[in-house]
Amino acid sequence: MEDELPKQWYNIQADMKNKPMPMIHPATKEPLGVDDLAHIFARECCEQELNQTDAWIDIPEEIQEKYRMYRCTPLVRAYELEKALGTPAHIYFKNESVNPLGSHKINSAIAQAYYCKKEGTTNVTTETGAGQWGAALSYAARVYGLECAVYQVKISMQQKPYRSSIMRTFGATVEGSPSMSTRAGKDIITKDPTHPGSLGTAISEAVELATTTPNCKYTLGSVLNHVTLHQTIIGLEAEKQMEKAGEYPDIVIGCFGGGSNFGGISMPFMRHNISGEKNTRFIAAEPASCPKLTKGKFEYDFGDEAGYTPLIPMYTLGHNFKPANIHAGGLRFHGAGAIISQLIKDEMMEAVDIPQNESFKAGMIFARSEGIIPAPESCHAIAAAIREAEKCKETGEEKVILFNLSGHGLMDMTAYDQYINGDLQDYYFEPEK
Ligand SMILES: *Cc1c(COP(=O)(O)O)cnc(C)c1O
Repeated sequence: MEDELPKQWYNIQADMKNKPMPMIHPATKEPLGVDDLAHIFARECCEQELNQTDAWIDIPEEIQEKYRMYRCTPLVRAYELEKALGTPAHIYFKNESVNPLGSHKINSAIAQAYYCKKEGTTNVTTETGAGQWGAALSYAARVYGLECAVYQVKISMQQKPYRSSIMRTFGATVEGSPSMSTRAGKDIITKDPTHPGSLGTAISEAVELATTTPNCKYTLGSVLNHVTLHQTIIGLEAEKQMEKAGEYPDIVIGCFGGGSNFGGISMPFMRHNISGEKNTRFIAAEPASCPKLTKGKFEYDFGDEAGYTPLIPMYTLGHNFKPANIHAGGLRFHGAGAIISQLIKDEMMEAVDIPQNESFKAGMIFARSEGIIPAPESCHAIAAAIREAEKCKETGEEKVILFNLSGHGLMDMTAYDQYINGDLQDYYFEPEK
């Protein structure tokens, strides 16, 4: 198992024909350099963020050691799902739910905490939606002896109270966002006392804490290039595992919040499309209530509600967009990362948007056939995979479909109960709102 663990991450920026446009400093309107970002993030992460020349970046031995605790993760042929659907397609999934934290987020949490520790940081802070990123970072911070403060989206905190307990178990402090503990939080609450919170509000608060606390760095669980870079471990392992199975995917699918698990599974395969050897389709599955890739505009926008972050060139619904309270908390983000946004623009990949009930319907079919309860976020990838598998049933094509199971849904049983009782609502993006 160990010798299969990749020793390098794959940086698609180096191979992209059109590079992602630079992030812009909101005050000076100049492209951002490593020094600008290094006020907020670990310097090594900033270098990775802006690296457009090295396709392969070494995974430090200390990080590999932690990865070996739970990697390689299994690649599974979903025979029972294929049978349940009666499809000739070969469906594979990469199971990122089988680590102690239950989602792919740990792959970047370990890397970011390691780089923070290495440069002498003592405190880390972050935002979290449903709590998977917060839980992963809380654990990673514990491993490297860092103090950790997490702002969790208020509505998600209420929907999934056990995730805050998990973070506190690892020793982190957890605060619901918007909170009264930051300037940004107070401003948001003053304007809208019942604001349910969003990843945008929580990012504002965490960034404010990082910039006003000595020796404290901010970390992000998605959207940015270096986060997706760390997640390429998923696709690199999957590529080797598919090879062992004697197959290569015709279609690769991931659910889409800010792009890290989708990018993680897709980009290693996409390099063969860029070089012209392969012609795989890549499909990002986003919620119909927060469809930045299918219904957003490509423009410079902030990554957070208050406008503290750099301006990012991205497909966005606007940084003030308030996503509906769907259960897939990890997908409630208004924008997409710069790399993915460029890839969509260049038609290197596609996106679909999935209504909440269709996603849970897919999750139920998957659970009943494979015995794994998927995270509400992952249900979107499963729904997109099922759509493709049904097309194969019509045409009789034996396509090879690979999707990423980004996490398990064992903390989300309230959502499943609501679906089973027929109480789940579909929400659609309404541009005039
Ligand atoms: C956070 C999360 C997502 C969405 O984030 P991406 O960066 O788009 O991957 C998807 N699935 C799970 C289980 C998550 O925790």
